[in-house]
Amino acid sequence: MGKKNKQFVEKITAMEDDFAQWYTDVVKQAELVDYGQVRGTMIIKPYGYAIWENIRDELDRKFKETGHSNVAFPLFIPESLLQKEKDHVEGFAPEVAWVTHGGDEELAERIAVRPTSEVLFCDYYSKNIHSYRDLPKLYNQWGNVVRWEKTTRPFLRSSEFHWQEGHTAHATDEDASEETNKMLGVYADLVEQYLAIPVYKGRKTDKEKFAGAKYTLTIESLMHDGKALQSGTSHHFGSGFAEAFDITYLDENGKSQFVHQTSWGLSTRIMGALIMVHGDNRGLVIPPRIAPTQAMIVPIAQHKEGVLDKAYELRDKLKEIIRVDIDASDKMPGWKFNEYEMKGIPVRVEMGPKDIEKEQVVLVRRDTGDKEFVALSDLEDRLPALLEEIQQGLFDKALAHRNEKTTIAKDMEEFKQTLDQKTGFIKAMWCGDQECEEKIKEETAATSRCIPFEQEKVSDTCVCCGKEAKELVYWAKAY
Ligand SMILES: [Zn+2]
Repeated sequence: MGKKNKQFVEKITAMEDDFAQWYTDVVKQAELVDYGQVRGTMIIKPYGYAIWENIRDELDRKFKETGHSNVAFPLFIPESLLQKEKDHVEGFAPEVAWVTHGGDEELAERIAVRPTSEVLFCDYYSKNIHSYRDLPKLYNQWGNVVRWEKTTRPFLRSSEFHWQEGHTAHATDEDASEETNKMLGVYADLVEQYLAIPVYKGRKTDKEKFAGAKYTLTIESLMHDGKALQSGTSHHFGSGFAEAFDITYLDENGKSQFVHQTSWGLSTRIMGALIMVHGDNRGLVIPPRIAPTQAMIVPIAQHKEGVLDKAYELRDKLKEIIRVDIDASDKMPGWKFNEYEMKGIPVRVEMGPKDIEKEQVVLVRRDTGDKEFVALSDLEDRLPALLEEIQQGLFDKALAHRNEKTTIAKDMEEFKQTLDQKTGFIKAMWCGDQECEEKIKEETAATSRCIPFEQEKVSDTCVCCGKEAKELVYWAKAY
């Protein structure tokens, strides 16, 4: 490795030395984001946005496939409207940004910049749902929201973030339950199949559920440093919001009924998961299915006659089957290698005069660094297959890591010891008492991540108080 290249690599902190700094370095060096002028805001740069767009497009396709329509609601919420559902406003009040003036004139009523849009949809539904024939309402919106966070980090916790929020209204509680489950399944599928991140699916405890919800379902994933990240949530509201906003419909017998609602969201936070699950000390590693560029062609000795022509010819051929790009700039190949490793492009395709002579290329995997020589005549078969192998390889590796870092604890001593030595998820029984949940958080900094759908009985008693246990909970320190 040349001196110049070495210097380039040294720009990122090793993740073993300082994981938080490694994250910040990667986000910057891979050109995903820049900081905005208002604290906690971010500028998502072209490469970061291209990754988000691929996530968004895939999710949007799934929403439409499951019968949802996209809408766009206002950015602003009158204060009186936000106040209507008590638990909801209490949950969000500390993070709301308020508009108090229009030009120089003080407003008669403060206006909230939406932290989430439940109340806007509820207000709309109360005016637009009349009969059972109007149900279900299956709406989604892509947008941005503002939450005035105290400590912020790009993607993970930003004062403004991009996301989608689904808001649905149904005739019955069962219909709403089905929707809540279905959308959690959509998220789990996206995150596992496209982002190659394994998730635990489950229900949040009452303490951790969404403000105003009857219950919240969640998918939880594990980052490289052993901390968990909530990766998508789906909420069942029952008829709580409907009662506060008077959203009723006439059923088939002409009787007035409250609707049953859900909401569900996945945000740019998932970009943080992508970075922290797959990344390494050379930068990002992007799973092929969502990589904006799946393969980068780097011509070797491109000044030699015929090399660039052949490389462009190859690009045009591959463009038909995968997302491919070429770097024919006059930068050194070593610089290019580092640059595209930093950006996490799944495969590098090297082609020089010797390869052209032998009618072959060199494929280099970003995830393992493995090299293989492939005949040009086989490339259109081999490259897509290799991308699938990488996709699966990333998932398998993340799954092995998560499983290795998922441990059982039967008492508090074991709980603390495991958390200190191993980090990761801790499976422990819980009595259902919020006091125990709070005590665990206080003493260990771990929070309840979910009550998994796949229940096991790892002991008979609560890990905290020793009383009879009700259910298994996954605990972890989390982002
Ligand atoms: Zn207990």
